[in-house]
Amino acid sequence: MESTPPRLQVSNLVRRFEGRAVVDDVSLSIAPGDVTCLLGPSGCGKSTTLRMIAGVDMQDAGTIHVDGELICDTVFRVPPERRQIGLMFQDFALFPHLSVGDNVAFGLKGAKADKRRRAAELLERVGLVHYIDEYPHQLSGGEQQRVALARALAPKPRIMLMDEPFSGLDNRLRDGIRDETLSLLKEEGTSVLLVTHEPEEAMRMADEIALMRDGRIVQQGAPYNIFNAPADKAAVAFFSDTN
Ligand code: ADP
Ligand code: MG
Repeated sequence: MESTPPRLQVSNLVRRFEGRAVVDDVSLSIAPGDVTCLLGPSGCGKSTTLRMIAGVDMQDAGTIHVDGELICDTVFRVPPERRQIGLMFQDFALFPHLSVGDNVAFGLKGAKADKRRRAAELLERVGLVHYIDEYPHQLSGGEQQRVALARALAPKPRIMLMDEPFSGLDNRLRDGIRDETLSLLKEEGTSVLLVTHEPEEAMRMADEIALMRDGRIVQQGAPYNIFNAPADKAAVAFFSDTN
């Protein structure tokens, strides 16, 4: 029986800066529709890994496959804009001169009316459709974050890469936005690689956690299993550190 390939398969990825491997033989996979968290302390190589998957940086060794199709090795490379991979970062930067609706429609192709319909549909889902003709500066930080999420999801990416997307938010807002984001991602069926240095965030959002340290994945599995049986003493310390 043929099995479905993972949505994302990263194999033996290496990235060196000045001779030092900051990503050192990283392999991880994401099943379709799953949220996988790449969890580890600051400086361990999470963002570098994400940039190679996005295609804005190139690995020194290893391969990346999406739905079983090779998108990048050390000689062949599908350009970022053809990977159908969405990105969301902490400084999510909406375009200030574009309306909220035009921000969400920005990456879409096709007729203007269709683009507006898709933008309205997503804004409806994040509870902000009444802002469609307003401008970003009229929205709160949390609202801008939800618009950024709608914009990233509008082109129906095969994978969404999120790099510490909640770390700029006020503590009071963060849990609510995490939950909203997760339910929207699940409704859309988007496969997600979420980078975080906060164990609590990974425990709250992940189907799978890939625990990273010093450029390596030290453990990948269900949150419950990783939390209850960390790979080693350093993993125990990381989980018990409240940051
Ligand atoms: P994280 O996202 O986990 O905090 P990064 O992937 O940003 O970690 O960085 C991993 C390591 O690689 C850090 O030591 C960082 O200083 C180094 N690094 C990242 N980008 C570069 C670069 N362009 N040139 C040199 N060193 C870099
Ligand atoms: Mg980072």
